[in-house]
Amino acid sequence: PPELPHKGALDGSDLFIAVKTTSRFHTSRLSLLLDTWIGGAKEQTYIFTDEKDDELEAVMGDHVVVTNCAPAHSHQALSCKMEAEFEAYLITDKQWFCHVDDDNYLNAAALLQLLGDQPHGRPLYLGRPSLDHPVQATDRYGQATLPVRFWFATGGAGFCINRELAVRMKPWVRGGAFVQTAARLRLPDDCTVGYIAQALLGVPLSRSSLFHSHLENLAQIPAHLLPHQVTLWSLQECKWLLFL
Ligand code: UDP
Ligand code: MN
Repeated sequence: PPELPHKGALDGSDLFIAVKTTSRFHTSRLSLLLDTWIGGAKEQTYIFTDEKDDELEAVMGDHVVVTNCAPAHSHQALSCKMEAEFEAYLITDKQWFCHVDDDNYLNAAALLQLLGDQPHGRPLYLGRPSLDHPVQATDRYGQATLPVRFWFATGGAGFCINRELAVRMKPWVRGGAFVQTAARLRLPDDCTVGYIAQALLGVPLSRSSLFHSHLENLAQIPAHLLPHQVTLWSLQECKWLLFL
C-alpha cells in the first residue's frame, strides 16, 4: 500500500532522547549539555549514567537513570547502558527513541523536522553509517557459525529508532538479551543495534547525513547549513560555532 505522508505532525512529546554518560563526565561534559540543548529539551531527555549524583538529579529529577553498568569504556559496560536505554524507552508510549553520546550537540528542532518527514507505519532505523561498507560479523550458534553482513549507525553521531522497530527488537534488547547478543557477536553496542535491526529483523539503516560524529571534520559543513544539522560532534567546537 502507498505510504501516507506524515509531515509536521510530530511534537516533543513523541520523543524519547537517551544520553549516555558516565560519572567522570558529569562535570566535564554533561554540564555543558545541560546548559545548552538539554536545557531546552528536558521533558524529552533521559540521562543514563553509572553513579548517583545529587546535583544532576537536582536538575533532571527522575530523568536520571542510574544503571548498574560498570563505569568503563568496555563493550560490556556500554552495551549494558544501551540495554538500559531500550528498557526505559519501551515502558513509555513515545513514538521515537533517539540515542546520543554526552559529547553530542543535539538540535531538537532539526531532529523533530527530520522525524516528522519520515514515512509512517513501518519500522525505521535512522542514522549515519559508521563505515563505507557493511560490517562482516560471525554469528555463532553452538558449534555452527554463520557470516552476516549489515550496516549500522554510528552511536557517536546519534541515531533514532521508531516504536514499530523497537517493539520488534524486544526479544534482543531487554533483560540481559542485548548484552548477551553483543557479547556473542563480539561487537560494540551501536553495531549490535544494527545487527538486530538489519540482520535479524530485515530493517535496513535509513541514512541521514544530518547526524555527525567525530569521524568527520565539522569544519567541512558550510556555516549556513549548521543550524539544520541534527547532531554535531565536539562540544568545544559547537560552543563557538553556535553560541558566540
Ligand atoms: N562512556 C561511558 N563509560 C566510560 C567511557 C565512556 O559510558 O567509561 C560513554 C561516554 O559518556 C560517551 C560514550 O561512552 O557517551 C563514548 O565515549 P567517548 O566519547 O569518551 O569515546 P568515543 O567512543 O566517542 O571515542
Ligand atoms: Mn565521543
